[in-house]
Amino acid sequence: MKKTKFVSVHGGHSGQFCSHARDTLDEIVQRYIELKFEWIGITDHVYPLSNQFRYPDEAAAGLDVANLTLRFTEYITTCRLLQKKYQDKITIFTAFETETYSGYKEFIPSVIRQFQPDYVVGSVHHVNDICIDYSKEDYNRVADDLGGVSQLYCQYFDIQYDMIKSIEPAVVGHFDLIRLFDENYSERLKSPEIWQRITRNLDLIRQKNLIMDFNLRALLKGASEPYISAPILAEAQKRGILVLPGDDSHGIKDPGVNMEHGIEILRRAGFDTDWQKPSLYMLK
Ligand SMILES: [Zn+2]
Ligand SMILES: [Zn+2]
Repeated sequence: MKKTKFVSVHGGHSGQFCSHARDTLDEIVQRYIELKFEWIGITDHVYPLSNQFRYPDEAAAGLDVANLTLRFTEYITTCRLLQKKYQDKITIFTAFETETYSGYKEFIPSVIRQFQPDYVVGSVHHVNDICIDYSKEDYNRVADDLGGVSQLYCQYFDIQYDMIKSIEPAVVGHFDLIRLFDENYSERLKSPEIWQRITRNLDLIRQKNLIMDFNLRALLKGASEPYISAPILAEAQKRGILVLPGDDSHGIKDPGVNMEHGIEILRRAGFDTDWQKPSLYMLK
């Protein structure tokens, strides 16, 4: 049997361009080459729209919007150089990951126009302008403001729906990230008001022919399954949506980790593991 190729549709956050990652982007690319990845999408975080939306680690490092904009510019340039430098060894896509705070519907398209990435990963890390991905305290704070964790899920999936509609990212990042700090997520996903939003978003992804990121970083962070969780994955498969592995690497230790396991889950769920490149879906 032909061995399934390693690819990553979402990864390559590096210490060089992201304050919560490690190692240089060149070192990370070398690691992917060592592990014989066929292609990778390098998808670092977009710079923030304003100081308010910096990640806590960026604020702690004393970086402001001007510094972070410059760093992002250098990121795109470096990624393009690495694309050429290693073109005989690996196919690299220069991409970036979105945000969804106030103003993103104008901000993200302007970043796309200026930097012309190969594609965009549409991710939701903010609900009501607060980052829900960073700490349990902030996650719970937004849930309390909204009237509970179930309401937080509903709001998250509504923001995601809006983001998919307005940005049309080639790749939808870690679809059910919102379960991150919720031990009761398998039960909660089944509740009608949440499940209806999930299937609505999947229908939109199918309609727009977007790829979903099967995000293996969840396993590194101690979750029992990647984002997308099994029941949602089954719904995506039924709809014929393309789901591709994304390691969401944040340093040289991450590429390849849990890749065999992730591919096996996708194969068993009935997905095509002869991966299509997101280049076919670029800049929709
Ligand atoms: Zn990150
Ligand atoms: Zn993300």
